[in-house]
Amino acid sequence: MKALRFERNVPRFAAAAVAGRLAGGAGAKVGPLRLRSVDPPEPPGSDWTEIKPRLAGICGSDLATIDGHSSRYFEPIVSFPFVPGHEVVADLDEAVGEVPAGRVVVEPVLGCVTRGIDPVCDACARGDLGNCERIAFGAIEPGLQTGFCCDTGGGWSTRMVAHASQLHAVPAHWSDEAAVMVEPTACAVHGALAAQVREGDLVVVLGAGALGLLTIAALTRFAPACTVLAVAKHPVQRDLAAQLGAHTVVAPGEIARAVRRATGTMAIGDGDIVRLTGGADVVIDCVGNDTSLAQALAVVRPRGRITMVGMPGHTQVDLTGLWQREITLAGAYAYGTEVLADGARHRTFDLAFDLVDAADLGRLVSATYPLARFTDAIAHAASAGPRGAVRIAFDLRNEKERNRA
Ligand SMILES: [Zn+2]
Ligand SMILES: [Zn+2]
Repeated sequence: MKALRFERNVPRFAAAAVAGRLAGGAGAKVGPLRLRSVDPPEPPGSDWTEIKPRLAGICGSDLATIDGHSSRYFEPIVSFPFVPGHEVVADLDEAVGEVPAGRVVVEPVLGCVTRGIDPVCDACARGDLGNCERIAFGAIEPGLQTGFCCDTGGGWSTRMVAHASQLHAVPAHWSDEAAVMVEPTACAVHGALAAQVREGDLVVVLGAGALGLLTIAALTRFAPACTVLAVAKHPVQRDLAAQLGAHTVVAPGEIARAVRRATGTMAIGDGDIVRLTGGADVVIDCVGNDTSLAQALAVVRPRGRITMVGMPGHTQVDLTGLWQREITLAGAYAYGTEVLADGARHRTFDLAFDLVDAADLGRLVSATYPLARFTDAIAHAASAGPRGAVRIAFDLRNEKERNRA
């Protein structure tokens, strides 16, 4: 089968890191990602089954991997060679477990159940799948998610395998574009709820790429009534942020003034050390770099909360204000189970299905590419904002070998 495969190759890692620093996505041309003809993965256990991807999204964490930016932190929790692609809608030819044949979305976290680990770890027992403590153990090779594990394959190919517990049936009337947005939407729903917003809060969302826009939509649907101040660079992002529920949308240079206006806080200092005495109750950082974290610290109020939803890496930032203002900085990764304001527990993926439908999030898929044009696809994904795009995906539906028996 045809697959984009990420191979362990030190010289190519180095080349990708150099190219990726010069232009986002350039690591695809010279790095360890190659288009290959490979054997499809074998189901590694009895509850596993083959699925055939239809669309597979390109996420920020994929781009960081391709451009050699991702942290060495991941080394023990990925296994090479792997086929990326964890935002996947696929065809399931035969029913498995409770899931009928038809289109499915993959919930990619490879927790205890998928690894055949029994009893499951405490996190999996609580339903907090993203916090699984066994992602390098059990019946399959290390890999925090499908798309980073050598045994499962991934969405950037014509065939992969999935555990029955990872599959969610797609409603018949949905487009594939809507279905492929479920996984990133689940990340945003988890981030929006992990931010612990309270009624009446001012919530700043930094970044209006896919993750930022989905976070705005998630806050609007699931968080207690709050005021959402979105920070967006590009015109299409600004329009979508407002459509998805942001009350105010500002450019990055205008955040401090907008927060001052919204909260009546004072500014102190002058020159380049002007800062606010108060600020926003909650900041959700959907970017995850030095600049966004510094911005978050600059506009959050004393005892406020910063939730990092965008994947950070090595970051240099002055934490004096975090200490003096007793700010909480927390991460939000993946999904599992959420508790809504009414006390009801839901799988994050169920909430994501609801949100994709209610907010028509399939429209955020801006362009799709065949595997053979992967360097164009990745360049487009890496410059989505300036090019007026949101999510870029691979389209496997017309790959010749996929449709061969
Ligand atoms: Zn992702
Ligand atoms: Zn576990």
